[in-house]
Amino acid sequence: MNKSQHQLAPGEPANLSELPTSSKPFHDDRDAAEKEFRKLRKQFITWQRALWAEGRQQLLIVLQAMDAGGKDGTIRKLFMGVNPQGVHVASFKAPSVRELAHDFLWRVHRDVPAAGMIGVFNRSHYEDVLVVRVNRLAPREAWEPRFQQINDFERLLAETGTRILKFYLHISRDEQRKRFQDRLDRPEKNFKFSLDDLEKRKQWDDYRFAYEDALTRCTTDWAPWYAIPSNQKWYRNLAIMRIVVKTLEDMNPTYPTIDYDPKQVKID
Ligand code: ATP
Ligand code: MG
Repeated sequence: MNKSQHQLAPGEPANLSELPTSSKPFHDDRDAAEKEFRKLRKQFITWQRALWAEGRQQLLIVLQAMDAGGKDGTIRKLFMGVNPQGVHVASFKAPSVRELAHDFLWRVHRDVPAAGMIGVFNRSHYEDVLVVRVNRLAPREAWEPRFQQINDFERLLAETGTRILKFYLHISRDEQRKRFQDRLDRPEKNFKFSLDDLEKRKQWDDYRFAYEDALTRCTTDWAPWYAIPSNQKWYRNLAIMRIVVKTLEDMNPTYPTIDYDPKQVKID
């Protein structure tokens, strides 16, 4: 498959301050973008049906972002109209005591998509080299080997029929401020804000550094990272949808062959 827009290249350093957060260099016509998005969504729905019916390969979509980066909104928009039976969304929060008693990939492996499914990770195993590193939840000796362990784990998934797409929703610090303010101003959005978000905002540069390291070290041929300019939600949605549809086209799921002749079957 040709390299898609916004895809990072294995072995090349991911420099987030040089990667765009705004869509202006790529698209400036919101109406046209939304029209294209709706057209692609129909294709997505059709492909998903075939993937589910075929039941032989799966797609895993990993979403990571700074707080208010738009993970929830991306899932809501992308999957509107898709058969919920064929989709599994896993949201990774701080691990429980039981989860902490296992290796960091234990809880993640349980939630990878089964045959024919599309799996979505709302946060993921990458938290184990991001928040864990920035907030010193574990010593360096614990998280440093994880980059390699993640690449090996993702390779196992890829070799057993899972296509992996990893999206970093790239917003600017100023955009985050606006979105936090919006969460404070609108009562129905208040629940999305927490005071902890402000603590993390103070650590913006530390997070950026940790993200750059993770994106650089875990962009592989079998599980590429994409840095999606995400200040404009309409562009973010379109950019991701284009990549998802292109990937499904490439996976080319087909309906299973049947072992009977439908014309010969008589129903009493
Ligand atoms: P939103 O972005 O909409 O606020 P969220 O994904 O931040 O949603 P929250 O419940 O607010 O959801 O936060 C989940 C928290 O769990 C995050 O702060 C994240 O860093 C934390 N977390 C996830 N995985 C781990 C992990 N392996 N170790 C420690 N903390 C983790
Ligand atoms: Mg949060």
